[in-house]
This record gives sequence, C-alpha cells and structure tokens, in this order.
Amino acid sequence: MQLRNPKLLRSESYFGGEWHSAADGRTFSVGNPATGEAIIDVADLNSINAAEAIKAAHLAQADWAALTVKERSAYLRRWFDLIMANQDDLATILTTEQGKPLAEAKGEIAYGANYIEWFAEEAKRVYGDIIAPPNNTQRLFVIKQAIGVVASITPWNFPNAMLARKAAPALAAGCTFVAKPAQETPLSALALAVLAEEAGIPAGVFNVVCSSDAPAIGHVLTSSPLVSKLSFTGSTQVGKVLLAQCATSVKKTSMELGGNAPFIVFNDANLELAIKGVMSSKFRNAGQTCVCTNRIYVQRDIHDVFIEKLVSAMETLNTGNGRDDGVNIGPLITNKAAAKVTELVNDALEHGAKLEYLAKMDITAGDNTRFYPPTLISGVNKHMQISKDEIFGPVAAVSIFDTEEEVLAAANNTEFGLASYFYTNDISRVWRFGEALEYGIVGINEGLISNEMAPFGGIKESGFGREGSKYGIEDYMEIKYMCLGGI
Ligand code: ADP
Repeated sequence: MQLRNPKLLRSESYFGGEWHSAADGRTFSVGNPATGEAIIDVADLNSINAAEAIKAAHLAQADWAALTVKERSAYLRRWFDLIMANQDDLATILTTEQGKPLAEAKGEIAYGANYIEWFAEEAKRVYGDIIAPPNNTQRLFVIKQAIGVVASITPWNFPNAMLARKAAPALAAGCTFVAKPAQETPLSALALAVLAEEAGIPAGVFNVVCSSDAPAIGHVLTSSPLVSKLSFTGSTQVGKVLLAQCATSVKKTSMELGGNAPFIVFNDANLELAIKGVMSSKFRNAGQTCVCTNRIYVQRDIHDVFIEKLVSAMETLNTGNGRDDGVNIGPLITNKAAAKVTELVNDALEHGAKLEYLAKMDITAGDNTRFYPPTLISGVNKHMQISKDEIFGPVAAVSIFDTEEEVLAAANNTEFGLASYFYTNDISRVWRFGEALEYGIVGINEGLISNEMAPFGGIKESGFGREGSKYGIEDYMEIKYMCLGGI
C-alpha cells in the first residue's frame, strides 16, 4: 500500500497513550477483499488487554471532563484538521481493507471528520434548565454531565465514520472512549488513533482494542463496572446479545442496528430524481449500508418506464477493485456475504421474480467470488426472503403497488425502522405519508439523507439513540437535578 504518511498504517492496538502488541505475540491477518491478498498482521488482543484499556480510560476520564469545553473543542478540532490533511491516505487504507471505491472512501473520511468538527462546536452548546419550584424556599436546576467511560463496537461497512460518529460526541461531552473495531477492518480505526495521538489528545482518552475474538472483548466491555455506556452499530442479532449483557450492570446503550429501507415511487413523482435517488441509496458501498434501499415499490402506471430507466442507469455501474479508476462498485466484504446475496436472489427467482438486468463483470484480479454483479429483479413480493432480510449487496428488488394505503402497510410491515424513502410531488401526501412511515429517517424526493447536522437513528428493532445533530451529544450525558433548599 502506497501512503504519503506510512505512519498511519499500524498493527498494534492503542490504549493509555501507548501502542500494544499481544503479550503472547498473537496476530490476525487483515486482507484486501478486492484481491484476497493479506495486507498486514494485526496484534490480536485479549480480554485482559480490554480490561487494561478500560482502566486507562477510567483513569483519564475525570481530568478530561474537567477541561473547559473550549479546551476539549480545540483537541477535537486539531483531530479533525489532521484527518482532513491525511484524507487521501486514510481513504487508501479504507479502500484496501474494506473494498469500497476510492472516491467513496474519500467521502467517508470527510463524512466521519464532519462529525468531529460538528461536535467540537457542539461541546460549547450544552444547556441545562432552571425549573419553577413548588415553593419559595427552593430552587430547582438541571445540569448535564459526561456519562463516564464509553465503549464502542463498530462494523466493517464504514470503518472510519461509524467510529468517528460515536467518538466525537463522547469526547465532546467529556467521556473517554474504548473502541473495538470490526475484525475485518481495524486499520482505519488504528489510523484514527495515530492522528488522535498526534493531535495531542491526552493518554487514555481515545483507545482502540483490536481482536479476532469479538465476543470475548464484547463481554469485558459490557460487564466492566468502569464502563458506563455501550454504543453499538451492527446487526440486530448481535445488538440484542449486547443489550442483554449490558442489562446485568444497567449500562446505558445506543443501538444502531439493521434496516430494511423501503423506497417508494408514486405515479406523480419526478422520475429522473427517483432514479438518481435509488442509484445512490441502493448502490453506495455496493449496497452494504444499513440505510441502503432494500425494497423498491413503484406505482403501477410508471412501473415499466421506471424499470427501463433503472436498467439504463445501472448500465453505468462498473464493478471492480475500488482502487481502479472508474470503478463504482467494489467487492462485498467476504465470500460469505456474496453467497448470502446469491441465495436471496435465487430464492426470489425461484418464487416468481423476474430478472430484468444482470451486469457483466470483467474482473481479473485474484479470487473474485466476493464480487457480485449489479442486478435488478421485478415482481418481488412480501413472501420472498429478499423483502424481509437486509440484502447488503448491489441488488435492486422491485414490487408494484396500486394505492397509498397498500404501500404504507407494506412499507411498515417489518420489524425494522431505520431509513425510508419516497418520491411524490403531492404536498399533502408528503406530510401525510411522511408522518405515517414508522421509521427514524425519511428521505422525501432525496436518496442521500445522512450528514452530521441531522439526527441519524432508528426505531423498532433498528435501535435507539441518535448520532449527529444537536441531539447527538445528549446520548453521552447524564441529567442531574439539583434542589437547593432553605432560601
Ligand atoms: P455485521 O453484519 O455488520 O458484521 P455484526 O453485528 O456481526 O454486524 O458485527 C458488528 C460488530 O459487532 C463487529 O465489530 C463485530 O466484531 C462485533 N460483534 C459480533 N459479534 C459480537 C459479540 N457476540 N459480542 C461483541 N461484539 C460482537
């Protein structure tokens, strides 16, 4: 891997302001999903190391919280500046370990950094309350304080941004932080630690523990009495396990879990806009995001023309190694992920769905079983597994609908409630339908909905808590009510 700043590629974990190998010298291999080649062996830490990292975070927390908000803000700002100064190298590391096209990786670095910049500013905007007392001898007021040590567990699909989105509000609030990145993509997290150190963020404030044994580290993070909160992004299945583990010590939690986003196009929609929206919400990161369009519902009158236009748009997709020019669909993260997408498509076709488009792939590099061709199927119905599971691949699955009522019921007929999208030019429907969708995020005539200024998060089994926006810092603060008597 060619980097301008080779110091960004680390293989040890970082906690207590120091870099740590495993005591027994164990490592695990991190590979490039586009080529199958090994990139580097990363130190494989264990539960004792996780406990040490938590202790370091605990020791650092009081001093970090005691800094003025302007001081914490300045650290975060320096971190942001260094990330942006190293954007190209960070994107190269990200693409190499994760597979997404380089342009998307650069976008992710800026997107993640935006949260750090935003919360550097929000650190200064934490407000309490003064409450009218029930009698004149008392005064009641509310202050907000840092929760304490925060642990995070993050996935491989956004190895930089999912971490930045949690660390930024936590540090801004005065919490210290222990991160456990996904085993597939630890290098982006370690590169963030290199830059946190360079930004002068004090020892113990930002820590990263890498391991091939997620359940073992997860167990320590969820059971340690020194950890006050767990912030998790990942599958609903693992989220439920971690929630149960956190219950034993009544930890606060934020859960960003799976989605099953509907994308609804009404007869009166601007079709060009809808095609643009579906392309960005479906195919970003090869379909591997929790806000990716999963179920496309098109009203009957425009169905055929929609399919025609979507096929033309999909013909511009170019699958390959994310580092190559012109590639906009990279590999899926593992062979297993690609096999699951194959299974979903086969199941749909066996149950009557129609194959409208299957991209040709011309991939010559290495073992290519992780690549999945952009695919469009129509005639999908609610009984097919593809409309129940997160596809997490570049497959557009289209159903026809007739009425607003029918499509609302279909859209809400899932245990998930993260992102949803609909396209219409009827202003009354915009409000009526937007309010009736049971989702934390609604894109209306828009397929790209996530930014640091807006609250990102789900309802139902997609989780709870919000990342970004003026609400984001509250997830990392406690409310304390103080009652002053004897006045
Ligand atoms: P994905 O489908 O995105 O891989 P997962 O929920 O499996 O979602 O993984 C998200 C994160 O959770 C990763 O960092 C993974 O290592 C971690 N993880 C998976 N299983 C456990 C577990 N039992 N305990 C703690 N962390 C886990």
